[in-house]
Amino acid sequence: MEWGREPYNNFTVLRAKFDQWFAEKAVEQGALLVCETVAVECIVENGRVVGVRTDRPDGDIYADVVVLADGVNSLLAKQLGFHREWRPDEVALATMEILKLDKTVIEDRFNLEPNQGCTIEIFGDATKGIVGTGFLYTNKDTLSIGVGTLLSGLIKHKMKPYDLLEYVKNHPMIRPYIQGSEPVEYLAHLIPEGGYHSIPKVAGNGVLVVGDAAQLVNAIHREGSNMAMTSGRLAAETIIMAKAQNDFSESMLDQYRMKLMESFIGQDLKKYKDATHHFERFPQYFEQYIPMMNRAASQMFTVDGASKWEKQKKIWRDLGSTKQKFKLARDMMKAWKVMK
Ligand SMILES: Cc1cc2nc3c(=O)[nH]c(=O)nc-3n(C[C@H](O)[C@H](O)[C@H](O)COP(=O)(O)OP(=O)(O)OC[C@H]3O[C@@H](n4cnc5c(N)ncnc54)[C@H](O)[C@@H]3O)c2cc1C
Repeated sequence: MEWGREPYNNFTVLRAKFDQWFAEKAVEQGALLVCETVAVECIVENGRVVGVRTDRPDGDIYADVVVLADGVNSLLAKQLGFHREWRPDEVALATMEILKLDKTVIEDRFNLEPNQGCTIEIFGDATKGIVGTGFLYTNKDTLSIGVGTLLSGLIKHKMKPYDLLEYVKNHPMIRPYIQGSEPVEYLAHLIPEGGYHSIPKVAGNGVLVVGDAAQLVNAIHREGSNMAMTSGRLAAETIIMAKAQNDFSESMLDQYRMKLMESFIGQDLKKYKDATHHFERFPQYFEQYIPMMNRAASQMFTVDGASKWEKQKKIWRDLGSTKQKFKLARDMMKAWKVMK
């Protein structure tokens, strides 16, 4: 309930609209916005990045510091040797649809007041045992539905991402929510989920890396936009300092990395540094334990004349041999350790 009161701190946004609005804010503060232009490579002189080459005629742009904010693939940071090609277990592939539905139907169906929103996280069966989650959330007159799983999981399970999305959309728990809606947009996008261990070099001579380009995503809490914006702010603060001293060297700009690590971004990524990799390395959590919990809950809450003691005994028996139970307990301890 408290999230429904001012000051609001949670929103759903459609990027096509939000990005334009946000860019206008930068322009209001004096930024020059150059649209429909690809930065092809960094211009490096005497070991220092001094600008970017664009695909426009006479399109070289020079700057004291270049901030690379070119998203998950960050070909420019790769070109500088800051990172290699991401491994399939360092990126998730999210497929998503935007579904048009009447505003009043959305409010009735999701029990919402005007201007309220609802998000449903879909965990377990939706990803067919692959590490990841599905999501469904409301916008004003559209719904966003999607599923994101590690690329390595899709490869291992030979699963096509759009098949997984179809599976989620047709799931009996989800289908009634989206009934009668019309798809208006489809997207597939990589999300950097390598976490703390995958953060590349983020500062060099005349250059900084922010957002997805620096692998700044908290996969457990599904946060990325806030980290992209905060890392942009920390980069700007570092550049202001560097400008005051007219020093754009790597050792000066490396203060950005320190700020990053001291902020909630570094702290949160450190907290979950082994989480995604743990669940990816030990598939039993998603493949066995989640279905096992579902079965146990279903048995416990089915009213069939059997006493709750009998049900508990059956659930306990279904956990398997003593050895299997010890393994389960050990795995739960390990999961607690990587999440704590
Ligand atoms: C399906 C999905 C759902 C998500 N949900 C959430 C959520 O609920 N909450 C949350 O906090 N985060 C969420 N995220 C993550 C979030 O979107 C990202 O972390 C965030 O957008 C990163 O911002 P960015 O500016 O670093 O990169 P991006 O948003 O990817 O922006 C990079 C931009 O650079 C452009 N670009 C790339 N290369 C070049 C080049 N060479 N020249 C010029 N331009 C270039 C790209 O076209 C793009 O516009 C989600 C991501 C996906 C895919």
